[in-house]
Amino acid sequence: MSTTYTKPTVFQNKLFINNEFVDGVKKTTIPVINPATEEKITDIAEATERDVELAIDAAKAAYPKWHSTTLRERSMLLYKLAELIERDFGTLVSLESLDNGKPIEGSEADIREVINNLRYFAGWADKVTGKTYASQTETLFYTRREPFGVVGLISPWNFPLLMCEWKFAPALAAGNCVVHKPSEETPLTILWLCRLFKEAGFPPGVYNCVPGYGPIAGETLARSHRVSKISFTGSTVVGRKIMEASSQTNLKKVTLELGGKTPVVVCPDGDLDMAVNLAWNAIMYNMGQCCIAGSRVFVHESIYEEFVKRLKAIESKVTIGCAFTGANHGPQVNQTQMNKILGYLDHAKNVEKLECIMGGERWGTKGYFIKPTVYINVDDNSKLAQEEIFGPVLCILKPWKTIEEVIERANNTKYGLAGVVVTKNMSLSDKLVRELQAGTIFVNTYCIPQSFIPFGGYKESGFGRDNGEEAILEYTQVKAVYYQLDEPRL
Ligand code: NAD
Repeated sequence: MSTTYTKPTVFQNKLFINNEFVDGVKKTTIPVINPATEEKITDIAEATERDVELAIDAAKAAYPKWHSTTLRERSMLLYKLAELIERDFGTLVSLESLDNGKPIEGSEADIREVINNLRYFAGWADKVTGKTYASQTETLFYTRREPFGVVGLISPWNFPLLMCEWKFAPALAAGNCVVHKPSEETPLTILWLCRLFKEAGFPPGVYNCVPGYGPIAGETLARSHRVSKISFTGSTVVGRKIMEASSQTNLKKVTLELGGKTPVVVCPDGDLDMAVNLAWNAIMYNMGQCCIAGSRVFVHESIYEEFVKRLKAIESKVTIGCAFTGANHGPQVNQTQMNKILGYLDHAKNVEKLECIMGGERWGTKGYFIKPTVYINVDDNSKLAQEEIFGPVLCILKPWKTIEEVIERANNTKYGLAGVVVTKNMSLSDKLVRELQAGTIFVNTYCIPQSFIPFGGYKESGFGRDNGEEAILEYTQVKAVYYQLDEPRL
């Protein structure tokens, strides 16, 4: 960790509508809490129903002009924004760690990825194409990919700025105007970015940011008849509400990136040290608050004992604390999340009586810290093996014997976001890649999803994709054209 990071003291606290920083109509505010100390950092303006409507007005008014900007102009604005984020890198890293609690290295990785991803989508602005079809005599058939107009974005708190950027970058590159409701838990980096949108020269109304509570601001956006598309990342429970809101209003198109319960399958021939480190990172990165967290580990019976022994040894390398002290394991994002996780730990101890080899409790009495926790010999149907805990809690399930058995067990979940496979055997990995029901499979690796590779879920982990060309397609609709070149033959 660089020693140059200090706790920021200057914040952007207002809503951002039509390139203006404004209070909410009701003048209410939301406290922003430092999860490492439980102290208030600042208050931000709260967006309520009317503010969201005003943001939609601004986006609607801006759309005709934004739609007709040249593709080059649109692309250059996004590149400019990336350049300004690079300039403010240190501020954004500090803000992210302060607000979300994640270790500095985690925030650095996030903000670097925001810049990379933004540049990736800036490059897409002039590459959105349709198709031409075999023509019949004087008729030309082709398709156009057109923006929706006003799109609504709703994002979570676990990778606060990155999850925002994954959405607004392709939406804007494709020519839409945006009304964005970021998580009310972690609004500081995206509000800072609003200044950079303005400084970069984005026209008023193209990007609007309305942080507020989900059931108020989020629901107003999801229910608006004037929003043609909504892209949501968050829990499966709220994802269902977004679908419901769409079906009960204007059938706006929906993209859902939801929860997960990623299986990590460790085969007997895999590099054991690599498997152990990978399994650790897959669950402990970001304190388990990753939708692709590898929360279920399946280890072959022949290496089970040794795997557990080596995993246990990693515990000594963990330093728990506030990001600004250089700790590598931070707090959970808020008290609600901490209490939810403690509820699972209590259940594990007192109801299921699971075998705990580390952690299993809160760390300290101030700040929302949970010790890295590992249970072994867990039954597949355990509550902890089935539900998304979203914390640093790993279940190493009962050992597996045959590949058919482990495939069936790994797929025994309602989720399907990702899967991880550790083996050197190509035919084994190929079988697992084909059989695991998930939108992303990592073989002998685990990392932040890449800009150019589509990311999204199977089963109840959602549908639609972030990243890659697929994300651009998510923010466009197809128009088919039948073009008679000569006299029409009626
Ligand atoms: P959440 O569902 O509670 O909230 C997500 C967003 O939805 C927030 O902005 C929230 O204010 C808003 N919201 C809440 N209720 C709403 C409502 N009724 N109408 C409209 N909006 C509403 O999720 P969270 O706790 O912020 O994030 C954690 C969840 O997100 C986990 O389940 C995790 O797996 C998931 N997640 C998924 C991905 C992915 O790409 N699949 C990525 C990150 C997080």
